[in-house]
Amino acid sequence: MTIGILKEPLFESRVSLLAGEVAALTKNGIQVWVEADAGLKAFCMDDEYIASGAAIKTRTDIFEGADILLCIHYNEIPFYLKNKVLIGVYQPLINIDQVEDWNNQLLTVFSLDMLPRTTKAQSMDVLSSQSSIAGYKAAILAASVYPRYFPMMMTAAGSCSPAKVLVLGAGVAGLQAVATSRRLGAVVEVFDTRNEAKQDVLSLGAKFVEVEGTADASKAGGYAVDQSEEFKERQKMRIAESIKKADVVITTAQIFGKKAPILVTADMISTMRPGSVIIDLAAATGGNTEVTADNVTITHGNVTIIGAGNLASAAPSDASKLYGKNVLNFLKTLIDKEGSLTIDFADSIVNNTCITHDGKVISQMVNNKLSTINPNHGNITQLH
Ligand code: NAD
Repeated sequence: MTIGILKEPLFESRVSLLAGEVAALTKNGIQVWVEADAGLKAFCMDDEYIASGAAIKTRTDIFEGADILLCIHYNEIPFYLKNKVLIGVYQPLINIDQVEDWNNQLLTVFSLDMLPRTTKAQSMDVLSSQSSIAGYKAAILAASVYPRYFPMMMTAAGSCSPAKVLVLGAGVAGLQAVATSRRLGAVVEVFDTRNEAKQDVLSLGAKFVEVEGTADASKAGGYAVDQSEEFKERQKMRIAESIKKADVVITTAQIFGKKAPILVTADMISTMRPGSVIIDLAAATGGNTEVTADNVTITHGNVTIIGAGNLASAAPSDASKLYGKNVLNFLKTLIDKEGSLTIDFADSIVNNTCITHDGKVISQMVNNKLSTINPNHGNITQLH
């Protein structure tokens, strides 16, 4: 069994495994090949990988010789190579067009954003480990771009009032943004459609703004669900009231497998005071504001809006360490004691994350999405 670690695209600073996690594999007799300089931007050098028992190889060597390819972002695999196993975060429900290509190439693709939110899967949950870092970095980034203090300052020259931070979405990223903003001394207000988030928000010393009439999300596995049009209107009005008073807005609202909801309109941004900052962590799935562009900083009037859909990459060492630990735990479900690949489709972790295998779509959610796009999709056989 050979596991290959690919260098990520230019915009990405993380790597799938750092040397410490590689050592855990090589100790168990698994061969690991690392593309030259794959860990450079996460400050893990080639000689550290070698000391952990890995070999440094070219990209072509890894494509051709490794059984399992680890790459956070999807890489085009040369078409003549079939039956490769890929593990990363590929958002198949959003990037649904790629699924057919994977099947045509007989790729076995595991996408870790599709993990079920169960206790057993918690140690593999890349969405949580990476969102937590993104939430922390969002508050730090906002504080550095914001042209005023975050904490209240009383000096001999006069006093400055604390920044007012509005956080939209109190999931893993949002709560970390709340905690970090509070630590920096800001006054924080929060919206979420899941009322269960209220206690977490209050325990961090922030205010939770309740909007009545939220849709029941109790059967959505911890995720938010789409809201009624009436609710959306009511929520928009409440957000408009809050945003007028906010200096910084951190948006994190996501609906699993769908485009992010637009919660902030251009008109609302126009009511913010000059110098205000918006960090949009939902930018990769369209963003929570009308004007967001992913990985781009724009200004609307005198407000700065930063589209930050990949902010975990801004802390590449810790992000890679935690991502790598998640991947190691996931690999335990695929590799048996003898070090061979054993794909057990009866395991819910496997059948939720496996998108394609042997020319078939495995994930039920992806199959459902394909059926809504193309009613003839039923022709593709499912294994389970
Ligand atoms: P997420 O990234 O899917 O969404 C971020 C937040 O946005 C969520 O809190 C969601 O309710 C909120 N949101 C969606 N639409 C909104 C709207 N219109 N207005 C305001 N807020 C909106 O969520 P997440 O960070 O992945 O976590 C969601 C929940 O799942 C959290 O309570 C988290 O603790 C839980 N979770 C459980 C497990 C597990 O059980 N293994 C693992 C990870 C997360």
